[in-house]
Amino acid sequence: MMNGLGLSPATNSPLGGNAPRAAGSGGAIVPIHPVPNEGCGDAPVLSEKGQREVFCGLTGIIWMHRKIQDAFFLVVGSRTCAHLIQSAAGVMIFAEPRFGTAIIDERDLAGLADCNDQLDKVVSQLLARRPDIRLLFLVGSCPSEVIKLDLSRAAERLTRQYLPAVRVLNYSGSGIETTFTQGEDACLASLAPTLPRSTDPQPRLLVVGTLADVVEDQLGQLLRALGIAQVDFFPPRRSDRLPVIGTSTRVLLAQPFLADTARQLQALGAHILTAPFPLGVEGTTAWLQAGATAFGVAPAVFDAVTRAPRQRAELALSHHRDTLHGRRVFFFPDSQLEIPLARFLSRELGMHPIEVGTPYLHRQQMAAELAWLPAGTRLSEGQDVERQIDRCIAEQPDLVVCGLGLANPLEARGMTTKWSIELVFTPIQGYEQAGDLAGLFSRPLTRRMKLAA
Ligand code: SF4
Repeated sequence: MMNGLGLSPATNSPLGGNAPRAAGSGGAIVPIHPVPNEGCGDAPVLSEKGQREVFCGLTGIIWMHRKIQDAFFLVVGSRTCAHLIQSAAGVMIFAEPRFGTAIIDERDLAGLADCNDQLDKVVSQLLARRPDIRLLFLVGSCPSEVIKLDLSRAAERLTRQYLPAVRVLNYSGSGIETTFTQGEDACLASLAPTLPRSTDPQPRLLVVGTLADVVEDQLGQLLRALGIAQVDFFPPRRSDRLPVIGTSTRVLLAQPFLADTARQLQALGAHILTAPFPLGVEGTTAWLQAGATAFGVAPAVFDAVTRAPRQRAELALSHHRDTLHGRRVFFFPDSQLEIPLARFLSRELGMHPIEVGTPYLHRQQMAAELAWLPAGTRLSEGQDVERQIDRCIAEQPDLVVCGLGLANPLEARGMTTKWSIELVFTPIQGYEQAGDLAGLFSRPLTRRMKLAA
C-alpha cells in the first residue's frame, strides 16, 4: 500500500512513535469509573510496528484554525505539506485563511542562517498584512531541511520581537513524530504553559479538546445547569481569553487523543477526571456525571438536567438501530477515537467490534472506555498495514472504519467503509449529536443495501 499525499511516510518512528506514552506523574488522577476487570480492561493488545497508513499531525490545523479565531498556523514545510493543508481544508477563495505554508527548499546546513532570515521575513510580512493575528503557531514538518531548523528558538526570538501584540509558539505536525490527531495534542501542549495561573481555591472545571462551537455551547449549558459555576474550555475561541489554571482546576477531556496536553495540565497542578468520552447517550451521561461527581452535584439535580436531552438522544439513536444491530465492524487505527466509537456502537447500537485498532493506547486515559468494550474484542495498537488488511479481509466485516487511503481499495474488494476523518471534522459529541453520530455509520450500510437491491 502506497503512502499518498499527506500520509505519514514513517514505518517505525525513530522517536518511538508507535510506543504508548506514559502518563505524567504530576497532579492526581481522580478515577470515576474504575472497572478494571470487566470488558477489555485487562485484555491483551496486539502491538504492531510496521508500515502505518495515517495522516500526519498537520491535519489538526484544519479544525483548530476554525476554533481559535485570532490564531494563525504557519506550516514550515515543503510543497507536499502545502498541498495537504490546502486540499484537506479546501481552497478558500472568499475568506482570508488562518493557515499557510512557508516553503523551505533544499538547503545545506550552511544555508540555515538564511533560512531563519527567510522565516523572520515571512512572519513580518504576514503580521503586517494580518493585524488581527494575536497567536502565531510555527508548525514543524518532516522534510530534513525543516528538521534542521530550530523552531522553538525561532518562536522565542519572534515572541520577543512581537509581544505584547503577538505570541509565537511552535509545535511539530511532522509525519515522523505525529499521527493525525496528535497535531492537536502537540498544539495544545505548546499552548498550556502560557495559561494564566490561579491560586483561587474555588474549584473550576476545564473542558479540554477542540469542539465545534455548537457542541461547546450545548455542553457548557448543561454543565452550568448542573450548578458548576466556573466552566472554561481549552482551546478558547480567542487567544486573549485563555482560561486560568491552578490546583483547584478539574479537567474533563473531551477528546481521547490529548495525553501530552493532559500531562502539561497536570504539571500545572490540575486534576484530570477520568471518564468515558462524550460520544453517544451513555458516554455523554457518564462524562457529565464525572464532572457532576467532582463538583458534588446531587443525583436528583443531575437527573433533572439531563433527562430531556437524554431522551431526545435515545429517540434519535433508535432510528439507526435496525440498520446497525448485529453488524460486525472493523476499525483501522487513525484518529484515536476508535475505542470510544467501538464502545458506543456496541453498547448503544448492538454492533460487534471485531478488531479495534488505535495508533496509541493510553490505558489510564482509556480505562473507563476499555471497561465498556465487549470482552473478546481484538485490540491492536500501532499498525502493520498489510497484516491488518489481511485480517480485515479474512474477517469480512459489514463495515470498515479506516483512513482515506484504505477506503477505495477496500471498497473495490466489496467492503463497506466509513472514512475516519469524517468523525473528526463532524460535530459528534454530546446528546444532540448522538443521532448524527449513529447516522455516520448507518448511511454507508444503507447505501450499500440500496446499490445491491
Ligand atoms: S509533514 Fe511530512 S507527512 Fe505531513 S504533509 Fe508534510 S511531508 Fe507529508
